[in-house]
Amino acid sequence: MASIERGPDFIRAIVERHLAEGRYREVVTRFPPEPNGYLHIGHAQAIGVDFGIAREFGGRCHLRFDDTNPITEEGRYAAAMQEDIRWLGHDWGEHLYYASDYFERMYEAGRTLIRKGKAYVDSQTEEEIRAGRGTVTEPGVPSPYRDRSVEENLDLFARMRAGEFPDGAHVLRGKIDMASPNMVMRDPVFYRIRHAHHYRTGDDWCIYPLYDFAHCLEDAFEGITHSICTLEFENNREIYDWILDEVGFEEPRTHQYEFARLNIEYTLLSKRKLIRLVNEGHVSGWDDPRMPTVAGLRRRGVTPEAIQAFVQMVGVTKVDARTDFGKLEYAIRDDLNSRAPRVMAVLRPLKVVITNFPEGRVEALEAPLYPHDVPLEDTRTIPFSRELFIDREDFMEDPPEDFFRLAPGREVRLRYAYFLRCDEVVRDPRTGDVVELRCTYDPDTRGGSAPDGRKVRGTIHWVSSEQSIPLEVRLYDRLFRTADPDDVPEGGDFLDNLNPDSLEVVTRARGEPWLAGTGPGERVQFERLGYFVTDLRDSRGGSDAGSDGGLVFNRIVTLRDSWARKVARSTADQAEDTKRPKGAEKMPRSEADGGEGRPRGSARGGAREDRDGARRVDPELAVRFERYTAEVGLTEEEADVLSGDRALSDLFEAAVATHDNPRGVASWIVNELPRELDAGLVSESGLEGEALGALVALTDSGALSRTGAREVFSILVARGGDPDALMDAMGLRQVSDPEAFRALVAAAVVDNPEKAAEYRAGKVGLMGFFMGQVMREVGGAADPQVVRALLERELGEGEGA
Ligand code: ATP
Ligand code: MG
Repeated sequence: MASIERGPDFIRAIVERHLAEGRYREVVTRFPPEPNGYLHIGHAQAIGVDFGIAREFGGRCHLRFDDTNPITEEGRYAAAMQEDIRWLGHDWGEHLYYASDYFERMYEAGRTLIRKGKAYVDSQTEEEIRAGRGTVTEPGVPSPYRDRSVEENLDLFARMRAGEFPDGAHVLRGKIDMASPNMVMRDPVFYRIRHAHHYRTGDDWCIYPLYDFAHCLEDAFEGITHSICTLEFENNREIYDWILDEVGFEEPRTHQYEFARLNIEYTLLSKRKLIRLVNEGHVSGWDDPRMPTVAGLRRRGVTPEAIQAFVQMVGVTKVDARTDFGKLEYAIRDDLNSRAPRVMAVLRPLKVVITNFPEGRVEALEAPLYPHDVPLEDTRTIPFSRELFIDREDFMEDPPEDFFRLAPGREVRLRYAYFLRCDEVVRDPRTGDVVELRCTYDPDTRGGSAPDGRKVRGTIHWVSSEQSIPLEVRLYDRLFRTADPDDVPEGGDFLDNLNPDSLEVVTRARGEPWLAGTGPGERVQFERLGYFVTDLRDSRGGSDAGSDGGLVFNRIVTLRDSWARKVARSTADQAEDTKRPKGAEKMPRSEADGGEGRPRGSARGGAREDRDGARRVDPELAVRFERYTAEVGLTEEEADVLSGDRALSDLFEAAVATHDNPRGVASWIVNELPRELDAGLVSESGLEGEALGALVALTDSGALSRTGAREVFSILVARGGDPDALMDAMGLRQVSDPEAFRALVAAAVVDNPEKAAEYRAGKVGLMGFFMGQVMREVGGAADPQVVRALLERELGEGEGA
């Protein structure tokens, strides 16, 4: 079991050990952005680590602006960063700091090093200094100024500060080792002259410290214990320690720990590069919904919870890797699935006239906003009339056999309404374009099923033309067309890799009337099209729009579930190869095509055809599809996946027979299973319906968190087992009632009698250790304040006994 159990990541393990050893009284971390741009999702990961660790171990996290470079920094960036961090759900309390507030103390540290003979003023030019550094294979040569006297160095350093010299005349350097194998240690530059205005200190200073000198001191001044940064600073750890030791900071002082920075495919995460996209007009601003900035993601409609889930999925490691873009989309979808109401909109309207529906009549249909909810509560009214709009992609004049949407002579279901048959196609006589469909509806099919039991294969969305409202819809694609945007030929530029089609504006979309009430930032699902949000700036009531403007929707993410498709494919491959009818042959389809879920010519996504094919050859599956949508309350997408393959469908049936929560079970099969299976087959996995039902029952009862359940699920898929036993073996049983909670706290104290005694003897720093013990037991899912209070009482009581 040890190999499966996922312990804390390596940084948390270090922190826990330090607290257990009593090395620090309390964990103190910091998030130290340079205010030279906007925060991006990579920073969100660092923020999650820095603030998360502090929270979990009952310590604190400082927000510190690392504003030691006067050239690039601006107050507006610092303000925007604070807004973003708050929005992500973190709070630094009173611990907001600026590196520039330490300039005087840093200067003093420089003098200390000079006095100890550990730093000198160098008067070489920048080029001379660089040339003198040597290379990885050759040692550097000492500067001719290296042996200046302490007095001369102190005098020159003071005059540098006083502004007597122009930029570049002198620098302060550490006197370390010009032959060090670590280039960073070859007399690094600590200070340089820059006659520049600083956004906070104004013209007080004309010398500014460099990162290597400043950062460790900032950490030490603030009493940071764990200075967590990204791997590219690994070589700088040596100078970090050297400076703190030489300046005289004693153990237990701060130390630096590095983890792999976040990289995402098709995405750039570097403020320096993102700023070019903004300044050179390739995007509309830092909050352009295509930007990987926190502000961009927010405007795109992504929630802080989705970002958090994504960052957790990626984890904290020492291995540099590029994360699949699909993981981010998955996290976004997973989060929106439960919170976004479902409504209908049509992107590219095609007029439908129902010839047997009376002119002037409007029927009011009730439809649920959250079809997942049982019992259905929130509903809205959709008007149904003689003239409708459907999406152009849902009609084909000469379709292949496996096109299950509207075509001449074919019948489909209009979502929440009736069966509709297309009788006649009207064209524009000049262009030949299809401009109108003349159709008939079957009045006996209201609600979507026919009394005579006849079936239709497809359900499409629609709006009533007269009552529908105009929408502008912005569809986004990835900003770069290469997985690694920095991968350019000699002399090229990352801008060459920009995707020219990353934004498509659809100006003539129509939405159902319910949408008229949506304010800026509201998220919805347009059925079959994706998740959308009203634009915070340009939609009615937004910051750049009047209250009487039009509605503007951003597509947050498509509904495509490439995972579900993988499952259906792999299982279909195994079971259906011989039975598959000719028309339902798998179409070769690139990831990129299905990938953006943009309906093209034919049916959406390859797997839909596979699954429709499966339902054709296995009538039981067709029956189940109907039942899943009509009676069980699954969404169309879920029903499609769960009735599109016999093995999957049987798994679902068995799970629901064990625990009657079909929506809960469906969500695991549709959303989680594909991720675990990857390309494997469901029949070869260890997952049994009964176990899945039991797992869902455990989450429903609150015994298992969603995160914990994922870990158990992972094992069930890999090798099967009993969820209840696995949960206990893995220490995942969740504390949902206060009594059990107290028991945990008491156990932490009883299990560590020596530590408890030390604490009671005055070593109060051990509180962090106990916090860590309890927080780990509850998987971080507890209020640290409450844990601390309970622990204090528990440890205090022992004293009296
Ligand atoms: P950029 O190149 O985007 O400006 P940076 O590292 O210079 O990045 P800082 O403002 O100095 O930006 O970063 C603040 C903190 O965020 C640092 O601790 C840094 O290690 C961390 N960080 C920056 N980028 C990432 C990333 N892609 N993934 C994880 N952490 C990151
Ligand atoms: Mg930086």
